[in-house]
Amino acid sequence: MSKERLYLFDTTLRDGAQTNGVDFTLADKVAIARMLDDIGIDYVEGGYPGANPTDTELFAQDRGLKTTTFTAFGMTRRPGRSASNDPGLAALLEAKADAICFVAKSWDYHVKVALETTGEENLASIRDSVRAAKAKGREVLLDCEHFFDGYKANPDYALACAKAAYEEGARWVVLCDTNGGTLPHEVEEIVGTVCKAIPGDHVAIHAHNDTEQAVANSFAAVRAGARQIQGTLNGLGERCGNANLVSIIPTLKLKKEYADRFDIGVSNAQLQKLAHVSHALDERLNRAPNRHAPYVGESAFATKAGIHASAIAKDPATYEHVAPEAVGNRRRVLVSEQAGKSNLLSEMKRAGIAFDAKDPRIDSLLAEVKRREAEGFAYDAAPASFELLARRMLGTVPEFFGVDSFRVSVERRHNALGEEVSMAEAVVKLLIDGERIMSVGEGNGPVNALDNALRKDLGKFQQAIEDLELVDYKVRILNGGTGATTRVLIESRDGKGERWFTIGVSPNIVDASFEALIDSVTWKLLREGARP
Ligand SMILES: [Zn+2]
Repeated sequence: MSKERLYLFDTTLRDGAQTNGVDFTLADKVAIARMLDDIGIDYVEGGYPGANPTDTELFAQDRGLKTTTFTAFGMTRRPGRSASNDPGLAALLEAKADAICFVAKSWDYHVKVALETTGEENLASIRDSVRAAKAKGREVLLDCEHFFDGYKANPDYALACAKAAYEEGARWVVLCDTNGGTLPHEVEEIVGTVCKAIPGDHVAIHAHNDTEQAVANSFAAVRAGARQIQGTLNGLGERCGNANLVSIIPTLKLKKEYADRFDIGVSNAQLQKLAHVSHALDERLNRAPNRHAPYVGESAFATKAGIHASAIAKDPATYEHVAPEAVGNRRRVLVSEQAGKSNLLSEMKRAGIAFDAKDPRIDSLLAEVKRREAEGFAYDAAPASFELLARRMLGTVPEFFGVDSFRVSVERRHNALGEEVSMAEAVVKLLIDGERIMSVGEGNGPVNALDNALRKDLGKFQQAIEDLELVDYKVRILNGGTGATTRVLIESRDGKGERWFTIGVSPNIVDASFEALIDSVTWKLLREGARP
């Protein structure tokens, strides 16, 4: 039996951007869109061109995406205007996008009260907007806002909105549970009725998580016939969030009921990147990943030592509903020394480090990793620092340079124009081949100044780090109070497009930053095959 195609639509960059405390930059948006493209998501909704400078710019440039349908979001034409005389609609039609997703009211009460127009004019606005976007050669989606509440109040009108879009040629009619209060059995029943009027392969579900059932509601819609699921990475979204694609995707791929019936754009190899994508988004948002997240959380396949652990060692299927490797996660058996060691060895293999499992230095490395993780290091997030630590303990990292000392000063003063400016200056003294090299760097802050000083003159290694660039710098305070520990995570890249993460931990933020900077430079020298 041939499988049916089920489509995935990600709205992390539009609906997810509504999350309290989330503020994506243009670079964030491009990077996240590429990650989504890279794991085979069919549609990526980028934002609302014309609504703010970031989204306008995003839709003016080439994002370098491979297969995903990049989608712009916006309103249907305003009531009482013609489609050709609506600047908002014009901006949307001009945006560099493969598809346009219009949002329209589908609850008659909202049409009257919020739009202050008639039901007939709202339907005309839907038809005109879909037609105008189709004429521009765009694929069209229509978000039926408040569809489920609207359907309960006036089923004929809600359905008329959906049909108006479908009959005008919209590829998808999106049924939105905007308030997020609809229950799975209601979704299944209503979507089932809609699919009698509109073919299910043109019907999408957009669920919010206000009763913690957005994922269940999405599957209920699929069972009733819908063939597109909308959601966000890690369930980002305003209030309680949107349907979490990171939970939905593995269920579609790994659970027989769905895997036997449907094909999705995500391959098995792409599925293995899912845990990484989920964590990468959290890092970008400077949030601690949810340890208990289904499939991808650190605890999702963790078992405490004891009878469970020994049973797992004999046959993992005894206590695991799917294989952790399938989603790029791994099994963790807590407490047990032996299991800690097997985790460590698999990490070393992943980093490409040659070793002999019987080498007694591996036990010292394990103890050191544990000690440091208790201190606040998170090697999961900084594989380059882990690799350096392991190689150092195995004696395979040459001493490229020594740090004799460093000093940073920060000054706030008034410049010649009388404006208040803050400046930092750093002095770094390095020892290379017994020779002392001193560099001075300036920056807008202490870390920037240190980075500039450190990389200004690395003597004979200077050429090897010429293309090293700092991409991102994140600080997390691990425990409150004045004695707090600071964790600094640095992302670097080079001219070959290689990216690596390093980490530093200290009660002093400058020390933590310096540690991460030194690791970044050392890792690069190691990769370049530099010789002391
Ligand atoms: Zn929404």
